[in-house]
Amino acid sequence: VPSVPIQYGELPNVPVGATFANRRALHAAGVHRPLQAGIDFAPGQAAASVVLSGVYPDDDHGDAVDYTGQGGLEPGTSRAIADQKLVLGNAALIRNRNWGVPVRVIRKVGGVFRYDGLYSVDEFRRERYASDGFLRCRYGLSALTRSAPWVARDQATEPLRVEQTVLRIVRDTAVTREVKRLYEFTCQMCRIVLPTPVAPYAEAAHIKPLGGRHHGRDALDNVLCLCPNDHVLFDWGAITVLPESLTITGEAVLEGRQLLTVPAHHIDLMNFDYHREAIFVPIVDRVDR
Ligand SMILES: [Zn+2]
Repeated sequence: VPSVPIQYGELPNVPVGATFANRRALHAAGVHRPLQAGIDFAPGQAAASVVLSGVYPDDDHGDAVDYTGQGGLEPGTSRAIADQKLVLGNAALIRNRNWGVPVRVIRKVGGVFRYDGLYSVDEFRRERYASDGFLRCRYGLSALTRSAPWVARDQATEPLRVEQTVLRIVRDTAVTREVKRLYEFTCQMCRIVLPTPVAPYAEAAHIKPLGGRHHGRDALDNVLCLCPNDHVLFDWGAITVLPESLTITGEAVLEGRQLLTVPAHHIDLMNFDYHREAIFVPIVDRVDR
């Protein structure tokens, strides 16, 4: 197999809808290099492409795809025998989300492979399937508009320019205003109050996320008042709150610290249970950092 360098974004001479007879043809065109694996990535980098081939149960809704990561299967079968790990392509797709790098999506359609354009990686969660009890890595992908193509520039000649999508929407609602009022803009984790010229700044963090497949509620018992740094750490699974003790875990500076609470703020502790399983990545699982 000749070595083809990894390429991100749209490729010259590969329009959306281009078809390829087989995986070897995808490889030769640089559209998707691995001949079997569903995720094309380079070590320590984001993924460049994914193939939806039906081996894993991807929920494919066209412009929105709930993509399942790799691994955990009995060799040669589609039967799960282990939890999927946050390594290799599974870790790479999280970098796509964190860095705003889209992936090419290729679908197997009628025996050929079709390039279907660029998708952003909007969401990552871990999901334990009731059918077999094993954890899957799940990614919410959504098609980028064709009017604003994303192009990776040649890194040797100019800096990589990334067209960012807004990944974390900070919504201003009655609930989010209320939680900031209750804590007077104090971060419930690190206790910082960020002063800005006319008013302090804080963010309302939903414990069980609103979007995607999480179905969290925009209610006071599902929000925290956090600084932007701790909001990112929480949303992206670096830290969580243990419901039994309301202590923070997962990150050295905050480890063991007590979540700041006020009596007027009732938190539904079930939301922390959800966060711990679906969003938080335990330190022992972070083997590919
Ligand atoms: Zn903080």
